[in-house]
Amino acid sequence: MHTGVFHDIDFAADQKWSGHLGIPFSIDRSPYFQLKIPVFRIKNGTGPKVLLMAGNHGDEYEGEMTLARLYRRLDQSAVTGEITILPFANLPAVMAARRRSPLDEGNLNRAFPGDAAGTPTFRLAHFLEHELFPRHDVVFDLHSGGTSMAHLPCALIEQQGPPDMFSRALDLMKGLGMPFAFVAENGADAPTSMAGAARAGAIGLSGEFGGGGTVTPQTMALTARAVDRLLIALRVITSPVLGPHAPVEGATELLALQSHAQAVFATRRGWFEPAVAPGARVTAGDVAGWYHDFERPEAPEETLHFPADGIVISQRLHADCQSGDCLVQVGRPLTPTHALVR
Ligand SMILES: [Zn+2]
Repeated sequence: MHTGVFHDIDFAADQKWSGHLGIPFSIDRSPYFQLKIPVFRIKNGTGPKVLLMAGNHGDEYEGEMTLARLYRRLDQSAVTGEITILPFANLPAVMAARRRSPLDEGNLNRAFPGDAAGTPTFRLAHFLEHELFPRHDVVFDLHSGGTSMAHLPCALIEQQGPPDMFSRALDLMKGLGMPFAFVAENGADAPTSMAGAARAGAIGLSGEFGGGGTVTPQTMALTARAVDRLLIALRVITSPVLGPHAPVEGATELLALQSHAQAVFATRRGWFEPAVAPGARVTAGDVAGWYHDFERPEAPEETLHFPADGIVISQRLHADCQSGDCLVQVGRPLTPTHALVR
């Protein structure tokens, strides 16, 4: 009664249904309190099984808005197969407009494979990896840079799973119609949803669709198009639900993010002044920005240099930085000849 995650999802029922996951978490105001996380299901016959989720981090809004809208707009009759939607996965974080949950300071995307007897964020991660992900063929987890980071809108997968599964993930990612996509190497034991999906036998797809704790017409349009294109590629729907969409302008440019050496980190308190915007093409040694010591304003600012060739994919938005803050990341371009599948 006091651990785990409860729900009354009927996975066999053909229906359009909304309900909640319940996570017991006794608090002062309410001894039998349950965190009620919205969950939507649309099932129509047999076919592909897709899990769409957002709100893994609470301050990343493109996915949260788009997936709730998708459920509102989708008719059951337009679906072949199953769509499960978790639009606000780590609900306390979403309600607090924060990356992590204020209930337990849990970062859902660092909580997999989770703990059934742990705090709410870890119980949710455990339920997702052990019960919900295994029921689906594809898990699409939508992110953005959040409040503190600007992010080039990118699709994203991790180098996970056996070669055939990774190859399928790569094809699906390219089909999302995003201008950029990157492949991250976090390892099979990573605490992320993508690694959790792979351990559960599902294909994991993700993306950073914007940033800055806001949305723009461009980031919302790219997100809506990516969701529709995925569902159409999987043959769960046959025509766009969130469109009309602008045509895709060109092939997705593939990048790789494989090491911390592709980023610049702060090592002391200061102010970061960027030299370029996300999307800039840079060469190792180019000026990435300047670091100001506001406690020694008479001292010259430090010039920061890009550590690698590539495209700037993310950049810290807050000038005020502390030791350990990631200031900028560079994605390494991958040519088609790079052997990604190993
Ligand atoms: Zn995120």
